[in-house]
Amino acid sequence: MSFPTSKQHGYLPVPNIEDTVDSPRPRSDLEAPPKYSYFEDVEEQEYDAMRPRKRAETWKTTLTVGFLVAAAMYALVSGLRGAFGGSACRGRKSGLPTHYTLPSGDRIPSVALGVWRAEKGKVGEAVKTALKAGYRHIDGAWTYGNEAEVGAALRESGVPREDIWLTSKLWNAFHAPEDIEPVVDESLSKLGTNYLDLYLIHWPVAFKKDTAFEIDWDLTNDPYPTWQKLEELVEKGKLRNIGISNFNIRRIQNLTTNPLKIKPAVNQVELSYWNPQPELLKWSKENGLLLEAYSPLGSAERVKESLNIPIVKSIAQQLGITPAQVYISWHVQRGTVVLPKSVTPSRVEENFQITRLPQRHFDQLEEAAQSHKPERSVDPSERWGIDIWN
Ligand code: NAP
Repeated sequence: MSFPTSKQHGYLPVPNIEDTVDSPRPRSDLEAPPKYSYFEDVEEQEYDAMRPRKRAETWKTTLTVGFLVAAAMYALVSGLRGAFGGSACRGRKSGLPTHYTLPSGDRIPSVALGVWRAEKGKVGEAVKTALKAGYRHIDGAWTYGNEAEVGAALRESGVPREDIWLTSKLWNAFHAPEDIEPVVDESLSKLGTNYLDLYLIHWPVAFKKDTAFEIDWDLTNDPYPTWQKLEELVEKGKLRNIGISNFNIRRIQNLTTNPLKIKPAVNQVELSYWNPQPELLKWSKENGLLLEAYSPLGSAERVKESLNIPIVKSIAQQLGITPAQVYISWHVQRGTVVLPKSVTPSRVEENFQITRLPQRHFDQLEEAAQSHKPERSVDPSERWGIDIWN
């Protein structure tokens, strides 16, 4: 089978830094004041009901042009909904959000393929399997070391660049403002694109240049200079949305107390049966900050144990789905993006099939997850010599 050429699909034909620098995607909403809220796009609900900006536009049209034009607008919006729904079929069946709308107006798909520890030689096939299964969101990072293979797979898939949500992350060694753009360019080059949909500060921890894990306390205690550089790269068009990862409430407020031009669009954190973080979830909802659930199955070390939890097996059996699908559905039903990782084709496909859990099952799982002492699967605090969670 021959794939269409990369140029036809919006990827850079020969990824190199020169190609990426001066060709940012135009961004019409840059001047708009940042709003700090997000909306869920649930496919069963009326598109307008979930999109206040669209509703306002339709209202204006109704006033000025009358009922016939409003009816035409409705037909148009219905068409747009079909065209932009991505995995509309899954959304319609699942009763769960397929996307969330960020303050920039961009729509982030609710289920992503995570690629941490997705080995070279396997990650490309996993990405292609995911795209065939309907995923349109890949969660990567510079430090995962596999962006070139991910980029090649994206080009070979034939899926247009603008249909895919690509996330990458700023590694701890590059928090100094002058180091950020070169490492963003490196990710762009490897992924073969000229913009990232989302770029996160990977950890609220800065390392000193050219050291293994030596902490740069100035940039760790005050991430504002790092953030300002990211804002600049949004203005340049290289990044469309910026966010944070592994930030607790104190660290979020330490950042947002500054006069930010762009507030963090998301916070990517560990959320699982083992570490459900209900307080952070509640606070984030109250403050309009979307969470992304990493290690949603308990990560490689605990996935087997997670899938054997009796209540999860019982819910899965009653609903005729798998334990992994119970967890992934639960995360989206909690109102977060979810990032399951797999390089096993059947699991990649399985993980994309989600469904709304009946309320009593959702409550049972929520209660079970909160009824034990929280335990983290990913915690480099000791290795790096910093209590990341304080
Ligand atoms: P995870 O998704 O909870 O678990 C991945 C493990 O589960 C792999 O061993 C995978 O095996 C297995 N698995 C996946 N689906 C399965 C299924 N349906 N049945 C049985 N086993 C299944 O853990 P994670 O990789 O730690 O986290 C997911 C993603 O979150 C990462 O890839 C990354 O994108 C992101 N993340 C971000 C951070 C951060 O600091 N921001 C930290 C950790 C993770 P196979 O691959 O062999 O199928």
